[in-house]
Amino acid sequence: MLAAATLAACDTRGGPTAPLRIVVAGAGIIGASIAFHLAKAGAAVTIIDKERPASHASRGTFAWINATWAKQPRSYHAFSQASVAYWHELHQALDLPVRWGGSLEWFDDAARQATLATQIAEQVSWGEPARMVSTPELTVLEPGVRIESPASAAYSPNDGAADPVVTTQKLLAAAVALGASLNYPTELVDVALSNGRLVSVLTSAGPIPADRLVLATGAAVDLPERIAGINVPQRSTPGVIAITAPAPRLLQHVIAAPGIHMHQRDDGRIVLGEQDGAPQDEAHALRLQERPDDFPDPAIAAQHAARMLAGAENILPAIAGVKIEHVYIGWRPLPIDGHPVIGASAERPDIYVAVMHSGVTLAPIVGRLAAQELTTGVAADRLSDYRPDRVFEDIRRY
Ligand SMILES: Cc1cc2nc3c(=O)[nH]c(=O)nc-3n(C[C@H](O)[C@H](O)[C@H](O)COP(=O)(O)OP(=O)(O)OC[C@H]3O[C@@H](n4cnc5c(N)ncnc54)[C@H](O)[C@@H]3O)c2cc1C
Repeated sequence: MLAAATLAACDTRGGPTAPLRIVVAGAGIIGASIAFHLAKAGAAVTIIDKERPASHASRGTFAWINATWAKQPRSYHAFSQASVAYWHELHQALDLPVRWGGSLEWFDDAARQATLATQIAEQVSWGEPARMVSTPELTVLEPGVRIESPASAAYSPNDGAADPVVTTQKLLAAAVALGASLNYPTELVDVALSNGRLVSVLTSAGPIPADRLVLATGAAVDLPERIAGINVPQRSTPGVIAITAPAPRLLQHVIAAPGIHMHQRDDGRIVLGEQDGAPQDEAHALRLQERPDDFPDPAIAAQHAARMLAGAENILPAIAGVKIEHVYIGWRPLPIDGHPVIGASAERPDIYVAVMHSGVTLAPIVGRLAAQELTTGVAADRLSDYRPDRVFEDIRRY
């Protein structure tokens, strides 16, 4: 409650009718959605990114839109479910590149399968239309998929997957059409305060006068602490995403199979996501120290792609021979309790943070609620679990 209420108390606009001047730092899918909803609410929005739109997590993401069993506890599940529902609206309104059709998920371990069935039963009791399907039904739903064991999979018909880069670009274009200004490469460097209140945002391209600053800077770990005095403890883990060249339609659903996840976008490209993460050895630790978004050497990228393609081929034989176009390393913006961090700083109340995993799923609802809080000063109840001043438990969810 405190966070948004404090925002209202320190309104610094030139006059009661002047629009709030809000700088959004970070043009990933979260910053883009917040900027779009702010511009729609009548704020004077400036978006900056130190590189370019969708150049970090919102590029190297699997982009599965879901409210599945992993979304715990129930309140977080409901939050995700509400965002999936709002995704459908935004999909129509902005013609976003998202493909619906549901997901199919299974594990190769019998004990894990038994837990999955229990988790799906819980989802059903929470109102999700999920259910377990037998292998013959799975084969009807997804004829190209070969599944030898186990005998069942979780089917979540509400799920979809997006092209996250084009979605981000479309949200930004919609914000710009509503009067927002988009600037990159422009790095947020610091803020200038007067009597503890924000007066301007200092950037690599010069100062920008502002009443509010939104930090949608993803896995840039130290930034919230340095700029807003907010410590967002993160466990930012890497994942590898490979994207194929366009192929004839081979898949209808998001497939979450043991070791490999995949879906096929409307443009025909198949997105592969590896589930096992980087090996815990010294060589990898050294290579990943600088948090690269791309492999340093195309040969290493090709090796990863070949391994992922081989994993996919075990499940989807027809993918054999499909060419890989891109291989990315994505760094998850991942608060250590797995939940979003959304709200204003107690120390600097006109600086607002929005850092989260599952940001593709959550971008619509977070954009709408953050913009509502920023422009009205009224706290949104739905965000009360995700404030920056909570106690962070170390829970490994992803
Ligand atoms: C491998 C992987 C798989 C994933 N799978 C899924 C999934 O299936 N479903 C799902 O919902 N989510 C998934 N996620 C999570 C999701 O992709 C992220 O939560 C989401 O992309 C975060 O968006 P963002 O805008 O917060 O961050 P980003 O996209 O990282 O954007 C942050 C932006 O801030 C900019 N920036 C940083 N510092 C500054 C500065 N000082 N000044 C100006 N700009 C700055 C960066 O350049 C960047 O463009 C996955 C993530 C990864 C990495």
